[in-house]
Amino acid sequence: MLGKYGLKTEDLERVRLRDETCVYCHKKMIYPYNPNNRQDSATIEHLNHLPPWDNPKTIAYCCGSCNSSRGPKKIRDWFKTKYCMEKNININTVAKPVKEYVLNIEDKL
Ligand SMILES: [Zn+2]
Repeated sequence: MLGKYGLKTEDLERVRLRDETCVYCHKKMIYPYNPNNRQDSATIEHLNHLPPWDNPKTIAYCCGSCNSSRGPKKIRDWFKTKYCMEKNININTVAKPVKEYVLNIEDKL
């Protein structure tokens, strides 16, 4: 069965169970998504903003705050923003899937 962005429901579920807290700021997230508290809700994050978007290896769950703060930026560029500086979000503090994505994919683009 296919869920959001053409991703398989079971892949999404696996990622959701892996990413219990925001992969960037480690906030405990609300799931399912609560439109009245977007900032704290779990949202699907495409580590790679370029298609294909149905690759489960480049998705993660992050909180609404981090998702909207990052927007279309590359993760390395986003780390340099005030938001990340203040929350101490950087290559050393993010969850493993993000770290691996940046080191193995983004840095080599
Ligand atoms: Zn976050």
